Amino acid sequence: MDWPADYHMHTPLCHHATGQPTEYAARAVALGIKEIGFSEHSPMPSDDFDEWRMYYSKMDEYVASVRQAQKDHPQLTIKLALEVDFMPGQEEWIQKLAGLHPWDYFIGSVHYVGNWDIDNPKKLSEWKKHDPYEVWSMYFDCLTQAAESGLFEIIGHADLPKKFGIYPDRDCTSLFERFLKAAAKHNVAMELNTAGLRKDCKEIYPSPKIVQLAKQHGVAITFGSDSHAPGEVGMNFKEAIELARSVGYTHTRRFTNRKAEAVAL
Ligand code: ZN
Ligand code: FE
Ligand code: FE
Ligand code: ZN
Repeated sequence: MDWPADYHMHTPLCHHATGQPTEYAARAVALGIKEIGFSEHSPMPSDDFDEWRMYYSKMDEYVASVRQAQKDHPQLTIKLALEVDFMPGQEEWIQKLAGLHPWDYFIGSVHYVGNWDIDNPKKLSEWKKHDPYEVWSMYFDCLTQAAESGLFEIIGHADLPKKFGIYPDRDCTSLFERFLKAAAKHNVAMELNTAGLRKDCKEIYPSPKIVQLAKQHGVAITFGSDSHAPGEVGMNFKEAIELARSVGYTHTRRFTNRKAEAVAL
């Protein structure tokens, strides 16, 4: 199999992943993957913001562990990145993070709607208190702002609100299109994230419909397993590639020093 880069993987520094970067790299080599990228959950200005991200004080350790994985696996290209939470008002903080290390790319992800991390299984009961359409609508508003912010090369798991299989009873096409137009205009890629297949929704993030609309709007794509364990590296990439090809994609993107390069799929 001709693998695209797997650009979404985590490390134990986020407190909910297992395996050192060098173990993820070893798995990638075993599968025949040529390029991967680490995208740990980025720190917030305060370490007690929530319990599922890297502490600010661990950033150097993170970078060193990724460098070590690269040293251990010279045949593999390993990119240094972050999965950054986009929240309106956080722009300056994100710019500060951008200046700390020679990152290859930032994945802009939305997990929070207001102060609720909508994908947190511990907060599943919150979903009962909200109209799913309102959550999806606010989510895609935030995602559109992330695409417009100029802070990210990639937008992560674009329809994360479907994680638990809770869907709005109204059509969301206009929400999707507003986001995709912003992504196209600002030249931001959209990630095909296979972790959705491992959740209740049992579907790649984002849905085939959004991937098809993305192609129509000229949005570039990347691939990510969102691995939280070495065994998840490259998982279900065959399905993701098939989905991308089925709507007409012929290329994916790679990033070096935050510059994009098109690669044949
Ligand atoms: Zn995570
Ligand atoms: Fe995420
Ligand atoms: Fe992730
Ligand atoms: Zn993620």
